[in-house]
Amino acid sequence: MISTPSTGSQSDPELPPAQPPSAQPDPPQTPEQALAELYAGNRRFVTGTPRHPNQDVGHRTAVAGEQHPFAVIVGCSDSRLAAEIIFDRGLGDLFVVRTAGHTTGPEVLGSVEYAVTVLGTPLVVVLGHDSCGAVQAAATAVSTGARPPGHLGAVVDAVVPSLRRAAAQGVDDPARIIDIHIAQTVEELLGNSAVLAAEVAAGRCTVVGMSYQLAAGEVRTVAAAPAAG
Ligand SMILES: [Zn+2]
Repeated sequence: MISTPSTGSQSDPELPPAQPPSAQPDPPQTPEQALAELYAGNRRFVTGTPRHPNQDVGHRTAVAGEQHPFAVIVGCSDSRLAAEIIFDRGLGDLFVVRTAGHTTGPEVLGSVEYAVTVLGTPLVVVLGHDSCGAVQAAATAVSTGARPPGHLGAVVDAVVPSLRRAAAQGVDDPARIIDIHIAQTVEELLGNSAVLAAEVAAGRCTVVGMSYQLAAGEVRTVAAAPAAG
């Protein structure tokens, strides 16, 4: 016997009418609001109380025509770093660009510029994490002098400057090296995209770097663009 999952909508006549599934609070409009929303979602994820907002059929239909994501996530491709999950968000909320080691090649920069200028997204987050394989591969390449074959070499090449910067500062703690790579990525985004830098200077957008802890599920801010003005 196959039972149909209950929707719960017709069991209790005393309940008020359900809101349409697509009814959601207005999305964040400012960099500060967007950052607060991400931290609130991460807190729900960390504590095991996710709401899974904006994942219902009604919202899917509502955003089919246009999108207004409130944050760009430039994150590592690591399978344990899924942005919509760790920030407890849904469809239309996050514009996500991911490469191994959150590199900043031209397609990445173009994607960020599209979100910030065309979609009006007020926040860009560089999202790195502990135990990053791309950083480890770059460290191995530096220590052995052997560049990986194929296109993996390009990923390593993109991360090596962060390792050299850490070495120049006398940093050998893996967690601090990750933080330096995140900060380096924030600087590369701003240094290599005049479009993004102009949006930040005008106060329309902010760039922050976050480090994610795989086991705890928690993010913390480790870098930020200089304030506008
Ligand atoms: Zn990684």
